Amino acid sequence: MIDFHCHLDLYADPMKVYDEVRRRRTEVLAVTTSPRAFAKTSQYFQGTDCVRVALGFHPELVKQRPSEKQLFLEQMRYVRFLGEIGIDGSPRAKQSIPEQIEFFDEVIHAAAVYGGKILSIHSRGAVKEVLQILGKYEGKYVPVLHWFTGSVKDAEKAIELGCWFSINPNMCFTATGKRVICCIPINRMLPETDAPFTQKGMEPYMPWDKTVTSYLAKENSVGFQEMNEIFHQNLLSIVSR
Ligand SMILES: [Zn+2]
Repeated sequence: MIDFHCHLDLYADPMKVYDEVRRRRTEVLAVTTSPRAFAKTSQYFQGTDCVRVALGFHPELVKQRPSEKQLFLEQMRYVRFLGEIGIDGSPRAKQSIPEQIEFFDEVIHAAAVYGGKILSIHSRGAVKEVLQILGKYEGKYVPVLHWFTGSVKDAEKAIELGCWFSINPNMCFTATGKRVICCIPINRMLPETDAPFTQKGMEPYMPWDKTVTSYLAKENSVGFQEMNEIFHQNLLSIVSR
């Protein structure tokens, strides 16, 4: 199984989840919410074979922590995976949109210059702003839109821009999510959980959750194993670029 956007460091007992991740051979992209959190999480998972740690700066924190912006821009030179980064236009974060746009623009510009980066991008309530910036900088980086909540039209625009999508279980339960999933090519998607922020009943989702793979297997009239294999091929095609 694969979880391409998981806050592994934020579970109540990350090492217990990690042991299970290894036992089940789950491939996890452990996104972080600040450069400081990245440093700490990297120490834990350095050299492990199932977990890739991404350098992140959650858009909601960008205005609160200006001193970490420079740190992020310096660190990003040395890392392959970035996330979570992006823009958040939800009511709670709306007032810092100008700062978020400015910083995201700087990060994407740098990603386009460096090349080879793989990005897990947050776009809640700000899909148009995110796509506008991605459209501005062409480069050899791979943007992966995590838990995409835009319209079908937005998704089509993102596909044209070369975006990938990590599909959250919650997208499989909403009408808009299902419509968006329908228009994404099967070779541009990966599963994610965004756990522990998302819950299945009373418990957080786990990185080895089967919801997205089961849903897409059914949609594409293939078996579960075959769908899982397709996702692993997709992951391979992203990381071998
Ligand atoms: Zn997240």
